[in-house]
Amino acid sequence: DTLIKCTYHDASSPMESPHIHSDDNVRSDLTISPDILSCVGNTPLVRLNRIGKKAGVKCEVLGKCEYLNVGGSLKDRIAVKMIEDAEAKGLLKEGDVIIEPSSGNTGIGMALAAAVKGYKCIIVMSERMSTEKEITIQSLGATLVRAPNVPYSHPESHLNKAIKLMKEIPNSVILNQYRNEANPIAHYDGTGEEILRACDDRVDMVVIGAGTGGALTGVARKIKERCPDCIVVAVDPTGSIMAEPASMNKEKVFFEIEGIGHDFIPTVCDRAVVDKWYKCTDKESFNWARTLIKEEGLLTGGSCGAMVYCGLQAAKDANLKENQRCVIILPDSIRNYMTKFLNDDWMISRGHIDVGFNTAKTWWWD
Ligand code: PMP
Repeated sequence: DTLIKCTYHDASSPMESPHIHSDDNVRSDLTISPDILSCVGNTPLVRLNRIGKKAGVKCEVLGKCEYLNVGGSLKDRIAVKMIEDAEAKGLLKEGDVIIEPSSGNTGIGMALAAAVKGYKCIIVMSERMSTEKEITIQSLGATLVRAPNVPYSHPESHLNKAIKLMKEIPNSVILNQYRNEANPIAHYDGTGEEILRACDDRVDMVVIGAGTGGALTGVARKIKERCPDCIVVAVDPTGSIMAEPASMNKEKVFFEIEGIGHDFIPTVCDRAVVDKWYKCTDKESFNWARTLIKEEGLLTGGSCGAMVYCGLQAAKDANLKENQRCVIILPDSIRNYMTKFLNDDWMISRGHIDVGFNTAKTWWWD
């Protein structure tokens, strides 16, 4: 009897319950979702309360939590959009095989959408990308093909391997995120619009990493329409060639950060939307991702570290004031990198942290 009293809330005599109850945080618009694909998007926009202050940034810093999408990244949006677009145009029909070259997250989104919709799916991914992505793609029932980490024009690159497979496999299609207009449109219609609505059309800076450039192009175009003075900051890893001016890309190093940076400019990437490019090394990206996780409780991936590192610098450089607002896109989650930058031995072996460092410590620049 005592146990029951303690466990259940008696609404008729609330004072008898030892618990403090509140349903204030339960939204009034909750419904049943028809399937998991309908839950893609509408991600939280969260204030980062500690990290900006610690870095000496005056403005409000907000993170767009794309890592909370159903497949774990912003690429779920384009996977659904590209597939539904192709279906509507009659380019994709029952029984077809979807093939896609990907650095992993589009692959996860495609495999997820293909599972729900009943398509066969083959993802071609460079050997540089994480085992966690491979396992996720395979667990969704898709086939994962690895390609060597070679320049995009090489016959064995993930792009060319996907084309080769398409020629061999009957009824197969490549929707091609690097060229498909549905990629930036998904971010123009979704991500960018959501940010503006949450911010009542007041955004002073937006920080976006460039992989295909779909998020950069779509979000920036939408935000600039309603906030023409918003500063668009783009993030490119050291070793990639996407930043402008080209003199920023002189350092030719191998980089391990996943999902951003290329040795070519994808067709969907409109670099004219960018006001300022920032570069970021692996060491900065991974340590900042660890700091973001520890300081703010955001379980984010490596490119989020690059976004935050460059975003805070950009907010300082632009001297954004207390009444201004910087929105940072946070593309994917911790799940993809458990055995990589979250592992101390992995970080030590690359010189990103010192021997004796442990995950309980916070890395900070200077
Ligand atoms: N970060 C990660 C982890 C990604 O997987 C991607 C997508 N490749 C991006 C950032 C960049 O997104 P986009 O392709 O839209 O430029």
